[in-house]
Amino acid sequence: MPALPLPPLDRLLADISNCRACTLPHEPRPVVRASVGARLLIVGQAPGRRVHETGIPWNDPSGDLLRTWLQLTREQFYDASRVAIVPMGFCYPGKGAHGDLPPRRECAPLWHARLLAFMPELRLTLLIGRHAQAYYLKGTSRSTLADTVAAYADYLPRFLPLPHPSPRNRFWLRQHPWFEAEVVPALRQQVTLALAD
Ligand code: SF4
Repeated sequence: MPALPLPPLDRLLADISNCRACTLPHEPRPVVRASVGARLLIVGQAPGRRVHETGIPWNDPSGDLLRTWLQLTREQFYDASRVAIVPMGFCYPGKGAHGDLPPRRECAPLWHARLLAFMPELRLTLLIGRHAQAYYLKGTSRSTLADTVAAYADYLPRFLPLPHPSPRNRFWLRQHPWFEAEVVPALRQQVTLALAD
């Protein structure tokens, strides 16, 4: 019996799995989650080595802190029917002289708009780090990441910009205590609203 055709989003995700659009120092392994009913979209940077090895997004200390900020359990966070995870680069970009390389520039223009077209129920998009903010906020991001995050209310209800929850950003978090005192409570409220029935 011939195989049944995949639904359109599954077909797109299968195309992404087979993507070889950029040259990487290793076999590409796109890590992305999307579903037609997703309410919350998380746009991060690119998988790190540990995520590349497991294929599970945010399965690292950065993910642990992000889930604390969002006040979501792992089960809630990984419920792909509600939470879509679409980084600026889907594959681990490899290491440079100063840590992981930035997300591949080819990736977001190639795939994001096509993926988002299948997610009409999205209520809130978290923009994590400067790459996601530059791409989605176009000319409206502020001159520094701290200023963009501090102005988060200007981008609601559609977007909420965040710093990267990487352990390497602990110094930034200590330097900007208003983030955990003021932005995180507002973030939790917005996430609760986005995921409510
Ligand atoms: S990073 Fe994006 S564009 Fe490059 S191979 Fe992976 S899925 Fe394709």
